[in-house]
Amino acid sequence: MRRKIGKWMGMLFGLIGLPLFLFSAQSFFIRDDSSALFLLLFGGVMTLAGFSQYFRFNRWEKKNFTWYKRKHPDFCDANGRVACASCNGRHIRVRGLMQHSYTREHFCAACGTTLYYSPEG
Ligand SMILES: [Zn+2]
Repeated sequence: MRRKIGKWMGMLFGLIGLPLFLFSAQSFFIRDDSSALFLLLFGGVMTLAGFSQYFRFNRWEKKNFTWYKRKHPDFCDANGRVACASCNGRHIRVRGLMQHSYTREHFCAACGTTLYYSPEG
């Protein structure tokens, strides 16, 4: 749930930042209004940060356990035990990603390859 909020907050930021960026770009470059520079940078950063957050959350949501099972059926047995697709290691460890991502990363203890992501808590 919190991941959904984070994802759509990113989209919202991007959608607010983009017109801000375009309007101030028009003022700065076409109307030669140098005071628009701050808004131009602000809008640009907001757009980039917003959309990159959206796509980051989107990727975590997509690369879940179901996705991994579908992609590597040979590395998942009937009991739900998973093996690493690059080294066949059976020791999978879990770590939380950075703050406010609400996402855990499941990775191979032997070679460090990320297998899939799951929501926190
Ligand atoms: Zn591995």
